[in-house]
Amino acid sequence: MNSLHQQYLKAMDITVWQPKDAVSENIPCDLPEEASDTWQGLFQCVRNCTQCGLDRTRKNTVFGSGSNQADLLIVGEAPGANEDKQGAPFVVRGGMLLTEMLRAIGIERENIFITNILKCRPPNNRDPLPYEVDCCTPHLKKQIEILKPKLMVAVGRIAAQFLLNSTTSLSRLRGKTYSYGENQIPLLVTYHPAYLLRSPREKAKAYEDMLMIQKML
Ligand code: URA
Repeated sequence: MNSLHQQYLKAMDITVWQPKDAVSENIPCDLPEEASDTWQGLFQCVRNCTQCGLDRTRKNTVFGSGSNQADLLIVGEAPGANEDKQGAPFVVRGGMLLTEMLRAIGIERENIFITNILKCRPPNNRDPLPYEVDCCTPHLKKQIEILKPKLMVAVGRIAAQFLLNSTTSLSRLRGKTYSYGENQIPLLVTYHPAYLLRSPREKAKAYEDMLMIQKML
């Protein structure tokens, strides 16, 4: 257990935290393995998950939204306060911008799938901690395995760095095509809508990314 993790447990008033063997074995949670081989089983698995401790502060888990037949999978960072309240990813302002960006290339949200690296909100919208990412990403990996998207888009630095196993900055990662996992799913990287709301001048580059998505679908 590293010191950041210990500080976190102290701040959250969590005195006992036992990493479960399941984490190192890459099993998403305590449900029987076959329960997570279906979309619905995986949904329940996420809903019941208490692995990293964020269940103590969440209102809802955020499994993702859209079609479980989608060709396009968008991966963000983690639910914020509104997402936690509504149990859906990318709602309110950032979500509206993402919806508009997708519409600009003829994509409706209900026809794709949108999810996050973390399925629960980190308190005060802080960045996900490494051990939370370790605990939670088996869910994402299982989503990818079941969905088999034709294209993945990482939205923002946290998602991009996790999916590419990289520490490179987002501005250097975007604009290129990568492939994810053993099935070599094409992967693109773009700015996070929250960043675009703060830095609207970057919207032109984000539009270029959208055109790349359109071209690759
Ligand atoms: N930011 C994200 O990365 N994901 C959400 O669902 C909401 C805000």
